[in-house]
Amino acid sequence: MTSRPRLRFAPSPTGPLHLGGARTALYNWAAARALGGDFLLRIEDTDRARSTDESLRIILEGLRWLGIHWDEGPDVGGDRGPYLQTERLDIYARYAERLIAEGFAYECFATPEEVDEGRQRLQAEGKRPMYDRRHRDLSDDERAALRAERGPGSLRFRMPLDQEWTLPDLCKGDVRVNLAELDDWVMVRPDGMPTYNFACVVDDLEMGITHVVRGEEHLMNGFKQAVMFDALGATAPLYAHIPLILGKGGKKLSKREADVNILDYRAKGYLPDAVFNYITLLGWSYSGDQDVFTRDEMLAKFRIDDIGKSGSKFDEEKLRWMNGDYVRRLDRAAFVDAGRPYVGDALPAAAFDEQPGFVANVFACYQERVELLSELAERVGWVLGEGVELDEAAQKNLAKHEDAKAWLAGYADVLEASGLPASYPADRAAADAAFALPSAADRPGPDAPPCDGPAQLEASARAFCDERGIKFGHFVHPVRAALTGTNKGPGLFDCVFLLGKERAVARLRAQA
Ligand code: GLU
Repeated sequence: MTSRPRLRFAPSPTGPLHLGGARTALYNWAAARALGGDFLLRIEDTDRARSTDESLRIILEGLRWLGIHWDEGPDVGGDRGPYLQTERLDIYARYAERLIAEGFAYECFATPEEVDEGRQRLQAEGKRPMYDRRHRDLSDDERAALRAERGPGSLRFRMPLDQEWTLPDLCKGDVRVNLAELDDWVMVRPDGMPTYNFACVVDDLEMGITHVVRGEEHLMNGFKQAVMFDALGATAPLYAHIPLILGKGGKKLSKREADVNILDYRAKGYLPDAVFNYITLLGWSYSGDQDVFTRDEMLAKFRIDDIGKSGSKFDEEKLRWMNGDYVRRLDRAAFVDAGRPYVGDALPAAAFDEQPGFVANVFACYQERVELLSELAERVGWVLGEGVELDEAAQKNLAKHEDAKAWLAGYADVLEASGLPASYPADRAAADAAFALPSAADRPGPDAPPCDGPAQLEASARAFCDERGIKFGHFVHPVRAALTGTNKGPGLFDCVFLLGKERAVARLRAQA
């Protein structure tokens, strides 16, 4: 029987969405899309002590930020809900009764001390330490007596003893285990709460899940779950237990790295598409020579079987580089939209609303120069306001040549006499035409612009230097210092143009 592919991401809301969880979600989502099936979000919140609404909110926000959308889930509903496990307790109770009635589960009354004592005894006998199955074979009367004495027990799964089990794994191949090595695990706690493995099987079955991609730390759970599927007369989904994400040095990801909330990357100025692309590469590759790809390109190629067999390394430097690449690929309007939340006071909201052409051109100056959107805030501070304070590097640049102040005064006169608009032109088309697009080659020729744009400004500055016998390479540093207060920044004549004649002349004269 072939059934419609259905995959799920099943986070426990006990913390934010981490790198590992994000990768699991992404692979399940991609596999569902690539197979033309459904992607579900199920919330495994049966650990009441550690689950919080806040974690759930952050996980959903993290997934949405990455652009992972689910067809069914707690917030969007669906035919096989509810999608929060704590709203499905009656379903688990029904399955528990059935498994008891059919002999696959039994009630165990052992106290934690007794369980521990049994474990130690087995260990002392040189056996694998686990629950010693002491209540597995009680008679009905013995069980009734213990229940009367001790109250409700926990429900345990009656693992078949001495049976080899083969789990076909899409990532690891066939994995074999003797089931006697697995204990009679707890399905339901005395308080009636199901454990992860039990609820997971019931839900994967009820929700028609066909494939499960998850971290290899769940491999042994895969056996427990597959055996329970068998007890229920069903076949387990196809599992792919994928290798851990490793740190840069090839060791386990440090706790600090592993615990990072995926939304922290948003705060740091990463683009979701870049993070998505990079996380995808942590265990899967698009092709030998192409690391950057769109979602559609990825979906056209993605196959669960191609997920790597060995752990891949997380390297934030590489992610940062990739982000820079994504920043450069954005069209200008998208770059402005993406960068807007990061500029803070350096470029207030009013500027975006009232001078969109100016803002777009400020952004144009930086698109080739930043890797993280958060770099914009400290870079663009000079573009507004009348004066500017010089930082230490700028002050040094100004002091380097004894004639520098005279150059600034002379250049201020040149600008004053030039066709540079008094302030940044309100006519967006004129400004865009005059403005430097990323490479010099894109600048309009001398006849094109209706006002002196960066190209004309550069020509007149060079003429001024020639006339005065000033080395152009020396001239630009004090001028940049006076205009921007820093020693970095975009092309100098882009800066002059953005400032407009009045402010540029005033800033030059303030330092002359
Ligand atoms: N709630 C489990 C976890 O977060 C899900 C594991 C699974 O996908 O089965 O690890």
